[in-house]
Amino acid sequence: MNAVSMSYDPEARRETPLALALKARIARDGPIPVADFMAACLGDETHGYYRTRQAIGTQGDFVTAPEISQVFGELIGLWAAVVWRQMGAPSRFQLVEVGPGRGTMMADAIRAARRVPGFAEAADVVLVEPSPVLTETQRATLSQSGAAVRWLPDISDLSPGPTIILANELLDVLPVVQLVRQEGGWRERVVRLDPSGRLDFGSAETSWSGALPAFADRATAGDIIELRDLASVTEAAARIASGGPFAGLFIDYGHEASGFGDTLQAVRQHRAEHPLTSPGEADLTTQVDFAAASAAFHATGLAVEPLVTQAEWLGALGIAERASRLMAANPSRAGEIELAIARLMAPQGMGTRFEALGVRSPGMAALPGFPSR
Ligand code: SAH
Repeated sequence: MNAVSMSYDPEARRETPLALALKARIARDGPIPVADFMAACLGDETHGYYRTRQAIGTQGDFVTAPEISQVFGELIGLWAAVVWRQMGAPSRFQLVEVGPGRGTMMADAIRAARRVPGFAEAADVVLVEPSPVLTETQRATLSQSGAAVRWLPDISDLSPGPTIILANELLDVLPVVQLVRQEGGWRERVVRLDPSGRLDFGSAETSWSGALPAFADRATAGDIIELRDLASVTEAAARIASGGPFAGLFIDYGHEASGFGDTLQAVRQHRAEHPLTSPGEADLTTQVDFAAASAAFHATGLAVEPLVTQAEWLGALGIAERASRLMAANPSRAGEIELAIARLMAPQGMGTRFEALGVRSPGMAALPGFPSR
């Protein structure tokens, strides 16, 4: 895996409102675990990154696949329509997106899937979004979609029943506990204050009481393990699946095999920066450990498809054919469409850095786009 290491230039650090609040909190209560730092930076109700700004798009800090090409969301919509038919075309089902950003992917998905008779009428479209700012953007994006959309703040609010869940770049924002191997055993990576009162990384006794993955046995001094709390997602998935056929698609950046390394990364205005530079004003993510995510879903009793890269998955769903039809229909935009598709499929870029994880009720047929075991 590509551990990310950015040097921390104290001159570049920014006294954001959240940096000041965190420094006061640490001075009062002591160092905070990296997971709490991540949760505060992204979700703090007053200063959290997703609560306060339009993060996504060329005007924001980073660009995601649905913002690169409409073909991404369209293929996901057609995929969902095939899955719905595999479920026996239930007359009512929840079509859910968790962490929908600007709402672009769902808008493209609904438009494309409308061609499949009965799908749009059966879909109860639900967007799970904790951020009020992004909820408003999603409302505007989907206002022309013709679908009745409802919003929920938390994935645990979803009801059991026939459901398809979609999520792009959601798992990477869920906070991770970082454990660091030291002589006497495992300690937890924390954010503390350095002697001049600046935010700094350190380590402290860990309160982690869960099991460690098997590969942890191979750790040598200095190795870091990242443990993501996926229970909110996997438990919700299992509970929803208890009420009918269930399928989930999680696309994200990460690696197929577990390994050691610190992958915490901050991005602001399309540039990587050290994660302590702009608390609350930069996106903060870690690479998804897909082996761990697959195992976490499997442990709840759901079936997990073999992992594939984004390029393999989009290729299997016919991205080339769909793109060429779009280019034929819009000759003046053909060059731009081609470049966007190349970016989604790039062998040294998004095509292989992103993976697709498919999960489903064990009784259902294998999901489209994934190889059979
Ligand atoms: N899927 C979108 C946005 C990715 S950014 C795209 O591809 O463009 C991450 C999204 O997840 C944002 O909408 C953010 O507000 C949301 N989010 C963050 N934490 C979340 C949580 N715990 N549950 C649901 N959504 C969350």
